Amino acid sequence: MTVGFSGSCLCGAVTFESEMEPMAVGHCHCEDCRKSSGTGHCTHVAVREDALSLNGSVTAFEKPADSGNLVSRHFCGTCGSPVYSTNAARPGNIFLRASVVDQPEKLEAQLVVWTKRATAFDPVDKKLMGFEAEIPPEVMAEMMAAE
Ligand SMILES: [Zn+2]
Ligand SMILES: [Zn+2]
Repeated sequence: MTVGFSGSCLCGAVTFESEMEPMAVGHCHCEDCRKSSGTGHCTHVAVREDALSLNGSVTAFEKPADSGNLVSRHFCGTCGSPVYSTNAARPGNIFLRASVVDQPEKLEAQLVVWTKRATAFDPVDKKLMGFEAEIPPEVMAEMMAAE
């Protein structure tokens, strides 16, 4: 297996390997991402579910996002590190947290969503392609098709 990148939680109980490079890397400033992050946003790394192998057990917390779609946030039950999310509206995709990737130097953010929820303590990166709310479906489709 050719590994695109790998990751691990803080305690090492959960690890993963992705066979593919990220389809997209983006920041999300929505309230749920802020509350689960420890700062003002999460950085999500999108890969195809079939390219990912996950080892160890994760605990999930489910909550509908602002869009109404059910988001399932998976984290290590031992150390609490967020590991990945899934979104009911995007079957087949996994959104890994950039914070647990073990080759962070390989990751470069391309876009930022929910800029209208950004806080003064964690301002929006203006160099990136930004969206006030969620990513428009046509932009998402283009990014996911790029790989
Ligand atoms: Zn852990
Ligand atoms: Zn979010």
